[in-house]
Amino acid sequence: MVDKMELRVAKFGGSSLADANQFCKVKKIIRENENRRYVVPSAPGKSEKYDVKVTDLLYSLDAAVENGEDHAPFYDLILKRFVEIRNDLGLKTDIESELEKILKDIMDGAGPDYAASRGEYLNGLLLSEFLGFTFVDAKEVILFDKRGKYDERATERKVAEVLQNIEHAVIPGFYGSLPNGNIKTFSRGGSDITGAIIAAAMRADLYENWTDVSGFYMVDPRVVKKARKVESVTYRELRELSYMGAAVLHEDSIFPVYKYAIPINVRNTNEPEDKGTMIVPTIDNYHGNPVTGIAGRKNFTIISIEKNGMNAELGFGRRVLASIEKYGIPFEHMPSSIDSLCVVLENQKVKDNIDDIVDDIHRTCEPDSVEIIKDIALIATVGKRMRDSIGTAATLFTALARANINVRMIDQGSSEISIIVGVKNDDFEKAIVAINDAFLEQ
Ligand code: ASP
Repeated sequence: MVDKMELRVAKFGGSSLADANQFCKVKKIIRENENRRYVVPSAPGKSEKYDVKVTDLLYSLDAAVENGEDHAPFYDLILKRFVEIRNDLGLKTDIESELEKILKDIMDGAGPDYAASRGEYLNGLLLSEFLGFTFVDAKEVILFDKRGKYDERATERKVAEVLQNIEHAVIPGFYGSLPNGNIKTFSRGGSDITGAIIAAAMRADLYENWTDVSGFYMVDPRVVKKARKVESVTYRELRELSYMGAAVLHEDSIFPVYKYAIPINVRNTNEPEDKGTMIVPTIDNYHGNPVTGIAGRKNFTIISIEKNGMNAELGFGRRVLASIEKYGIPFEHMPSSIDSLCVVLENQKVKDNIDDIVDDIHRTCEPDSVEIIKDIALIATVGKRMRDSIGTAATLFTALARANINVRMIDQGSSEISIIVGVKNDDFEKAIVAINDAFLEQ
């Protein structure tokens, strides 16, 4: 039954709007529940017929124009994709004139953000005509300050002011505008953020994020074929898992809704009967598996430092971090014990600075030893309930030992909702499978 008072914001990703057939699925979903009043589309993504996202074509178009290269192949393909959707759906939106104007703006130097944003803009025009919803250009409501930082207060006020008088609207994702009117985009995948912002500004009851997977899995289904679907996950758990590479939502899309405790429901446009995964502020009285998810990333470097009496030495940690900061490298983790500490860095950010950093640490900290461990994968086992379940760590480490995997680093973190282990890159998949199998049985 549909609750008349409820308000939902529904964001549809690129694959959900990649062609006319997908548009029809979206319409059916919107029609099924009249509380889905505000719809945020992405640009057309990859489809059966096209192995490229329109956003990538737009970036390429802009780069070709910028470099004085032939831009026609990109332009023609973008035009073809939008015209095909329009014609297949029998719509009237004048894509040809819109795109002509867009090309002219790009040639006049409107820039890559403007170019990239046009995928969402044009898809928004088509979707609003198809649904019979009002089109609200995101540049009018999603606002950035003059330094290019997203302006939360101004945006929330503006969104609420504009949408309060509109019953049903389509607001394109991914972009907004600077105070001078120029278009600015979020980072890639940023339509998720737009959806969250609209949901927050309108104090929606639910933010639905429609994509091409049925939610969130306990472990990457590409690593473990029979991965278990997660019914619900808390914002905090999701943050930990997204950081570790579990990419279902743009990681910044949690912040806007977090403030108002609005749940996010990740759903599958191609399997709308599946309830998907709920992302919620907290889960009370949960008695299921202590582990919600397992995710990881490869390619870290660990600097392991030992010095007798380290705990009593004032400023030791600060000096270690200062040696790393000097090279502009952020640190990811820093587990420590009485006489030793480890700093975990991303390989890609360390580049070839490692010897200089080690020299610096020797000079400023006079340690007994410094060891560099390269090509480490970090794996986080995450679960809000791990904190008060006995034996979680034992299960985890027994599973790794049985699989003959050497653990090079352990970090439980102060939040106690995750245990992170560092293993050799080569052991990554084996370790994930072992941890998953151990907790699946629970
Ligand atoms: N179309 C943009 C991208 O491909 C934004 C999005 O889809 O969320 O990154």
